[in-house]
Amino acid sequence: MRILITGGAGFIGSHLCDRFLADGHEVIAMDNLLTGTPDNIAHLIGHERFTFIKHNVTNYIYVAGPLDAILHFASPASPIDYLELPIQTLKVGALGTHNALGLAMAKGARFLLASTSEVYGDPLVHPQPESYWGNVNPVGPRGVYDEAKRFAEAITMAYQRYHGLETRIVRIFNTYGPRMRLADGRVVPNFIQQALRREPLTVYGDGQQTRSFQYIDDLVEGIVRLLFSDEKEPVNIGNPREFTIREFAELVNRLTGNPAGIVVKPELRITDDPQTRQPDISKARRILGWEPRVPLEEGIRRTIPYFREQLQRLGQLPAEEPATTPH
Ligand code: NAD
Ligand code: UDP
Repeated sequence: MRILITGGAGFIGSHLCDRFLADGHEVIAMDNLLTGTPDNIAHLIGHERFTFIKHNVTNYIYVAGPLDAILHFASPASPIDYLELPIQTLKVGALGTHNALGLAMAKGARFLLASTSEVYGDPLVHPQPESYWGNVNPVGPRGVYDEAKRFAEAITMAYQRYHGLETRIVRIFNTYGPRMRLADGRVVPNFIQQALRREPLTVYGDGQQTRSFQYIDDLVEGIVRLLFSDEKEPVNIGNPREFTIREFAELVNRLTGNPAGIVVKPELRITDDPQTRQPDISKARRILGWEPRVPLEEGIRRTIPYFREQLQRLGQLPAEEPATTPH
């Protein structure tokens, strides 16, 4: 297959490039490097089945030749990013999705949208099944992301129903792993780099809010299965094991041997930060035969070396006191 991945130089997009190339497909990554980096795909440059196109998908998208699938992953994804880039976030979710759908129509390609657990907002139903419509504040700071993704789901379903386009929608829950940006502000890169620097971990609010963290390899497997399935309605892909942020901080400190503990920062919690988040994955289990395989402790162990290397490259880890990962 010849596959276009928008947001292909981002965290998730670059892992998808790796997977589809490994499976023998031809991959075109398209990205304007707004929150992504060429470092994520540097190892693929020169690969005979890989092409990179620098382009903002909010503008008309041109790709020469046939396409069999389009995976639309372009969008700022971390709260810090979309708070700093509110208009770009709305535009890529709305105009970018429209352009990518139009391209899919023109090429007769299957279309897969990267949606998010944020469509459930600060959920009143727990855990969240796909049938839950959500509790979103459209005018709050997170509204730019949440509503853009809700619009993106709506227009994707409209192309499916009105134009008969083959579409898939994955609702991704918090995912982590190597290639997350050090400065993207999300809790996983923040905690790991703080721990490696021997600083206290910054817990926002009271730390009793929960998240369910999924390792990148599990997500990629779920996306591949969904793309090749017949399921046209949204599917949750996430790890249902739920942790409070405080528990997560303690885990990171233990795995890195960080003695500095935590520091509570109530004022840094973003308005409308969801209090709970846990996917109901019974649909993915039933339809895709999928479930996550990598427990949080194992996934964090696999992720720590990436951040250590990044910090060493920046000269931010004291060479005389290398951080250790006890096994
Ligand atoms: P990321 O920021 O690493 O990747 C997003 C990529 O999209 C970046 O490379 C960025 O440069 C690119 N991009 C943004 N606007 C663009 C535009 N207008 N034109 C072209 N490229 C553009 O974030 P990520 O975590 O890899 O997220 C990828 C997708 O997955 C996003 O759509 C996000 O909403 C979704 N998602 C991620 C998570 C998660 O936990 N990581 C959870 C839910 C949903
Ligand atoms: N958080 C935290 N300390 C940090 C970064 C984030 O306590 O240094 C909290 C944040 O308030 C939220 C949770 O961790 O409750 C997850 O935040 P993240 O930005 O990773 O993504 P979200 O799930 O909110 O999209």
